[in-house]
Amino acid sequence: MKAIVIREFGDPEVMRVEEVPNPVAGPGQVLVRVRSVGVNPVDTYIRKGAYARKPKLPYTPGADAAGVVQAVGQGVAHLAPGQRVYITGTVAGADGACAELAVCEPAQVHRLPDSISFEQGAAVGVPYGTAYRAIFQRAEARPGEIVLVHGGSGGVGTAAIQLARAAGMIVLATAGTDRGLRHLAAMGAAHGFNHSTADYTDRILEATDGRGADVILEMLANVNLNRDLGLLAKKGRVIVIGNRGTIEIDARQAMARDADIRGMTLFNTSPAEMAEIHAALGAGLANGTLKPVVGREFALEEAALAHVTVMSPGAHGKIVLKV
Ligand code: NAP
Repeated sequence: MKAIVIREFGDPEVMRVEEVPNPVAGPGQVLVRVRSVGVNPVDTYIRKGAYARKPKLPYTPGADAAGVVQAVGQGVAHLAPGQRVYITGTVAGADGACAELAVCEPAQVHRLPDSISFEQGAAVGVPYGTAYRAIFQRAEARPGEIVLVHGGSGGVGTAAIQLARAAGMIVLATAGTDRGLRHLAAMGAAHGFNHSTADYTDRILEATDGRGADVILEMLANVNLNRDLGLLAKKGRVIVIGNRGTIEIDARQAMARDADIRGMTLFNTSPAEMAEIHAALGAGLANGTLKPVVGREFALEEAALAHVTVMSPGAHGKIVLKV
């Protein structure tokens, strides 16, 4: 089969498409024919060798994908060949999803409703899982609360706007381009703000009549965390989802509001919490509340370009690779 193989950590060009032996599903495993793969920022950190978890070289990248069950190993009863699925990873130590076939644990394989395309299915795993965990499990956000999605135009932000809206929260969101702002409106954000303008945080406070947001989902904490504290309502919570450096904060701002700064990493999610997340996401995908948005699609051979694009400004949905 064709797969992307990385033989050394480095620039996007280290990703090459090679012919490799077809994998097989062992007992208790599921073999998935991959149709589309989601590209997440974390894939680029791992490729550079800059991430806490380093795979053994050579490796095939990719965790999120969608496709069709090709075969199931002995003892897998609830999945069958031919079923449409999205996946949230591959067997530990095995190759990733940027390939024609991927071997998964059953818990990593979730049914994909017929109404959701493979490209959309590839946009579910990390972005929707992260957004759900941030809103419900970390922020403990309630219907009626004001949620600011600070970085709403990308994969996680798009998912967060849809999830928060569906749960009856009032969503404010930011993007860095006009196209991104149009995307926020299309997703249903009540107000959109351009985070590349000087005074947008004043506009956010105005939109809440000076009260501030109950919850801020932060995609770039090293730039925004100090300002976020000033945008919080009393007992507000900032959830640090993305961070690419260090920042100095005025802790008095948190003190004055009884505010919380809560971090999150999807890797810390327990199996029970993960099952809850995908039960909720499966329901939302099936009933049409959740509609993943694919902003750009690349061929497997263009993976290097996809990695450059995911780290560039101007997001409007999710980047996927067609297999
Ligand atoms: P993405 O699709 O590349 O989107 C990045 C988002 O960040 C875009 O909405 C972008 O807006 C926005 N952004 C850029 N500059 C910003 C600024 N100054 N202030 C606020 N937002 C800004 O990436 P993603 O998949 O949504 O992931 C977002 C971040 O969360 C990444 O850093 C990623 O590594 C991290 N993440 C963490 C976890 C976790 O478990 N903690 C899980 C998933 C992702 P424009 O392009 O419109 O400027």
